[in-house]
Amino acid sequence: METKYKHLLELLAEIKDLNAASALLGWDQQVFMPPQSAQTRAMQLSTLAKLSHEKFITDEIGGLLSELKGWADTKGYDSDEASLIRVVKRDYDKAKKVPTELITEITKTTSIAYEYWVESRKKSDYSIFSPHLEKIISLNIRLADCLGYKENRYDALIDQFEPELKTSQIEKIFTVLKLELIPIIGKIKENRDTVSDKMLCGEFDEQKQLQFSNELLKTIGFDFNCGRIDKSVHPFTTSFSSKDVRITTRFDTKFLPTSIFGTIHECGHALYDMGINPSLERTPLCEGTSLGIHESQSRLWENIIGRSYNFWYHFYPKLQSIFKEQFDNVPMFTFYKGVNKSAPSLIRVESDEVTYNMHIFLRFELENLFINEKLKVSDAPAAWNEKMKTYLGITPKTDSEGILQDIHWSLGSIGYFPTYTIGNIVASQLYDKMKKDMPDIEKDIYSGKFIEILSWLRKNIHQHGRKFTLNELVTRITGSELDSTPYLNYIKSKFTQIYKL
Ligand code: MG
Repeated sequence: METKYKHLLELLAEIKDLNAASALLGWDQQVFMPPQSAQTRAMQLSTLAKLSHEKFITDEIGGLLSELKGWADTKGYDSDEASLIRVVKRDYDKAKKVPTELITEITKTTSIAYEYWVESRKKSDYSIFSPHLEKIISLNIRLADCLGYKENRYDALIDQFEPELKTSQIEKIFTVLKLELIPIIGKIKENRDTVSDKMLCGEFDEQKQLQFSNELLKTIGFDFNCGRIDKSVHPFTTSFSSKDVRITTRFDTKFLPTSIFGTIHECGHALYDMGINPSLERTPLCEGTSLGIHESQSRLWENIIGRSYNFWYHFYPKLQSIFKEQFDNVPMFTFYKGVNKSAPSLIRVESDEVTYNMHIFLRFELENLFINEKLKVSDAPAAWNEKMKTYLGITPKTDSEGILQDIHWSLGSIGYFPTYTIGNIVASQLYDKMKKDMPDIEKDIYSGKFIEILSWLRKNIHQHGRKFTLNELVTRITGSELDSTPYLNYIKSKFTQIYKL
């Protein structure tokens, strides 16, 4: 059995290599590739996706998975062996249901669509992107029908990013959150003069922003020997192994928080990928549990830690030394309130912790309609704008600041958005537990010491890679499943203090 297991690992490692090559081409496409290369790159990516899919759905792998199950289970549920067989079997069963031709078609379509989305967003002309979006949605409908579902077609798509979570469960949690958050947003609006972020707007030299971003990354624990930072239109993290993790950020010379919190956010993702147990390298377990758990890591660093008073107590003097002119006369508490300013924004990635989730509810609801063929692509901008008005009281003037703002649909990712709010929820559940396990956590942040926090995350989350599902992992750590109470308590207590509610 040992020999057979080793053979399975070799087969899976080759597939992992192909996927890493695709990821590298994808990274290059967003960071360095000249635009004229889009068509060829699409073919290259599609060839790799096809090879990877074909190599995976063989009878040989299927046979090995069945044969090895009993043997692997004797090693214990948490063991590398049992986890690998369990997780790969789930992937295998799903992959078998999808014809290679559909995978190729999706990769080709999305790779081209991405370029049209960039142009469409730049010109704020929805008609450039909409035919591609239409194609992407119909391909996703085909995909969902191949994968199968019990209650809602959208479940099959969510499952790709958040295994075993259903639309109905998410809807339940989101409905409670929506009801609780709307009055908080209203109260903050009444007290909006309490907080200003005008010190964050002005002229901020890009090189200096990069210098501060690097300082943040180094202090938090990003290992530059195993990763690098570059620029892209939409910040993201990708990794080719735990020893090669790439993050990107963007710089707005007129608004400082864009790069600071973008960098901390992606760093949270990167630390996760860097912390996976080396024993899982080149296996399908060498990835995060799910997008929701991945996002819990980025949100924890970006918001709970990165927007805390204690964090800025440590970093503010450094920031003041880099941007003397801008911050010399700004007291620390004023700055802290500034980075936590809450006001409805048209742009999701620039939204604050309170209003952010509204953007997710909107996208979750539209996707659910698209996939169930209850909303036409041509009617989507109007539906978008109407929901913005209902949830946040504001309406986009152009589609660039409306429906064209996000990259996700152009990449074919439908079912991805809800994982952002799930990440917020999980981050708060984790932080509550961290406070219990590490009574000195606030003091550590205050002193710029992040090693204990990182060790806790490595031990409880990072090292496991993809062994457990979201609910398994969260229950193991906190004793309860996905629960929005800690998140709501966190928002209420923090913003009551900042806005004197
Ligand atoms: Mg993220």
